[in-house]
Amino acid sequence: MKLHADKPEALTVSGTNLEHARSHNRRAVLETIRRNQRLTRAELARLTALTPQTVSNITAELLEAGILLAGAPVRDGARGQPAIPLSLNPDGAYSIGVQLDHRHLIAVMVDMAGVLRARVETPVDRPSPKQALPVIKKALSDLKAQSASAWERLLGMGLVMPGPFGVQGMTSVGPTTLPGWEAMDATQLSAALGMPVRLEKDATAAAIGERLYGSASTLQNYVYLFVGTGLGAGLFLDGSLYAGGRHNAGEIGHMIVEPDGLHCECGNRGCLERYVSLRALGECMRLPDDNEALRALLAQPPLAGDAWLRQAAPRLRQAINILECLLDIEAVVIGGLLPPAWQQALVDSLHPLASSTRSSQASRLRLGSAGRDVVALGAAALPIFDEFNPQYEVLLKRA
Ligand SMILES: [Zn+2]
Repeated sequence: MKLHADKPEALTVSGTNLEHARSHNRRAVLETIRRNQRLTRAELARLTALTPQTVSNITAELLEAGILLAGAPVRDGARGQPAIPLSLNPDGAYSIGVQLDHRHLIAVMVDMAGVLRARVETPVDRPSPKQALPVIKKALSDLKAQSASAWERLLGMGLVMPGPFGVQGMTSVGPTTLPGWEAMDATQLSAALGMPVRLEKDATAAAIGERLYGSASTLQNYVYLFVGTGLGAGLFLDGSLYAGGRHNAGEIGHMIVEPDGLHCECGNRGCLERYVSLRALGECMRLPDDNEALRALLAQPPLAGDAWLRQAAPRLRQAINILECLLDIEAVVIGGLLPPAWQQALVDSLHPLASSTRSSQASRLRLGSAGRDVVALGAAALPIFDEFNPQYEVLLKRA
């Protein structure tokens, strides 16, 4: 999987062109209002460090396009003009999030305020693009049937799946990746699906979803560990996502934790996801390689997977120690495709944690709390906060 169409690596740092600055500032305004719900222009200027004139221009445009709503004026103390609080208009625009993994496709539609408006879930079986595209199209038409009027103001789709992306010898190798996606990029998918598509890794989308909907809303530095068929991490550092040079930051499934350990399809031995993943669970419990056997196991209490927990815990504890020492994070959030009771058992098995730059035992590990749709909801936020999303220009021109 490639995230973008091939383009030459930039050799120099380019200056800011005005169009880019405008869309970047618009994104800053939208994100800041979403986080704070209601803000006056003066508060926006302070929080975004933009000039009052820039804030005034951007908010005028977004109000005109119906993306922002103006509230009743409030007087701030005795002096000055009354200020108008601005909020996101839930019906100002809509966005779709699609999570594709080995076993499920979950598609959600959210409004501008992030509220779930429609949802579809379909079983899949390790789909290639050729198999997945018709399923995604069907999910889109089902979403449209649930909320047809929203289609007029659709910003696009965030499509997320397991990584890594575009890494020779890793991307489409082995049972933890989805097959046949290495030649696909967002441009091709946008053309095939008839709307702007942003691609991202599932772990990164989970980190966004947990930030917007779950237990990470107050954290400035955390890592989301996504235990799926493989293992990935979403990095949220200093208040923003960290994607890495080629969007593969957090691909910790291939971090070596046992130099002479189990062979991995990437060519190394002892990769972390050979011990901590649904695939590793199935192998450890000697399950047949099919979805049914795993589903049946996960329907039991986590004691049924005790042998796997005992092999996973020390390796994961080591990885958490590395993440804490390297990144000085406030917490590691654990989520993914395990049922909640199994996630809890995995977290419990990690205590006591090794000492690191973080000392408190209690708050260093958190369970993902945004629920089963965390990845799809995080994916749906991608088009809303994508400063390059061309749909904004369409909505603004239509106003
Ligand atoms: Zn590996």
